[in-house]
Amino acid sequence: MADRKRIYLCLAHMSEAGLEQKYIKEAFDTNWVVPLGPNVNGFEKDLEEFVGQSKRVVALSAGTAAVHLALIAAGVKAGDEVIVQSFTFCASSHPITYLGATPIFVDSEKDSWNMDPELMEEAIKDRIAKTGKKPAAIIPVALYGMPYQIDRIMEIANRYDIPVIEDAAEGFGSRWNGPVLGTFGKYGVLSFNGNKMITTSGGGALITANEEEWREIMMYATQYRESYPYYQHEKIGFNYRMSNICAGIGRGQMTIVNDHIAHHKHVQAMYEELLKDVPGIKVHGNPDSRYDSNFWLCTMTIDPEVRIKGQENAYKTIVTGAVGGAAGVIHAAESAHTDCEPNANVEALRVIMDQAQIEARPLWKPMHKQPCYKDAPTYVNGVSEALFKIGMCLPAGPYVSDDDVKYIVDTIKNAIVD
Ligand SMILES: *Cc1c(COP(=O)(O)O)cnc(C)c1O
Repeated sequence: MADRKRIYLCLAHMSEAGLEQKYIKEAFDTNWVVPLGPNVNGFEKDLEEFVGQSKRVVALSAGTAAVHLALIAAGVKAGDEVIVQSFTFCASSHPITYLGATPIFVDSEKDSWNMDPELMEEAIKDRIAKTGKKPAAIIPVALYGMPYQIDRIMEIANRYDIPVIEDAAEGFGSRWNGPVLGTFGKYGVLSFNGNKMITTSGGGALITANEEEWREIMMYATQYRESYPYYQHEKIGFNYRMSNICAGIGRGQMTIVNDHIAHHKHVQAMYEELLKDVPGIKVHGNPDSRYDSNFWLCTMTIDPEVRIKGQENAYKTIVTGAVGGAAGVIHAAESAHTDCEPNANVEALRVIMDQAQIEARPLWKPMHKQPCYKDAPTYVNGVSEALFKIGMCLPAGPYVSDDDVKYIVDTIKNAIVD
């Protein structure tokens, strides 16, 4: 089926009414082609309405920038330690290193695949014992949209008086026992990159608790300029505010965000139903009724016993492009293997799906297994590494039709050796 239209993991999808272009045109027509303006203010208001709880939101140039500013506002400095979920995309932990602080990687629990609260407390105690100082912040991550056990995490964090930065970049609109993620901790991170729940092409936002926090983040996001007729800087700031053009896309996207979330949940429900009787394959769903994932990406695990056609040839060729494109710039890999990789059956299934015009991907490789973090302290229980070996991300998003899901499921079933 080489002539079939490729099914991507999660593609940007604009409103039927083309509101994104209307807001962008307005920005040009009124000469607001700058990183502030009516679209930025309007997008922030839309986001505040969506997350509720009287939160204030700052729109930024990236989700990574939101993590960075949250760490600064939480008081993280060079030499500090920050607890972060190991099972995540690198944007959760890299900003810790931008500040000269050290990430302390904590493993996940089996149900949600997110930060294990017990292990997190163990890590806090052990860091205090070893360094005489408590970690400066805690970053749980809503992997693929799935909520973390935020009530347990907040209870422990509050007991040690450590600020929590929720990385809800993938979990925009996911809920824990009612409220949306990003509203429980001191700060909440959102991302509007091209493949996220909604997009501004690239962009992010930080959810803050009140006007005072909001003002401080706004100062940091705009080079910390004091109110004088000339440029006066009391602190080091950043050029992190969202462009008024990008925010125009965001305003249009906010008119369809609930449709997007509903569609992701619908695709998830179809995978759960259509794959439920396939031995050795398990779709990762909400563990119980407290969890309400947006299912940004749908994920499944494949038992090592499941035999996939051609798995004896998995990893025989060196991949010549970086995953996700990475601007076409890559280092030539020296070997097709690393010391921690998905099982051969997972890789074989990925290749079969790729040839069938379906984009599938391994789960995030845990940060504690990344060469760039080889010296970082880790608290592991084996969960994220085990999941990385057996897991796979499946296409979700508004462009994935019912027919596509059936085709994807058939492709998976046909790839299994009976
Ligand atoms: C996407 C993402 C971010 C933010 O990334 P940007 O591309 O900078 O918007 C942060 N954390 C996680 C877990 C993400 O997936």
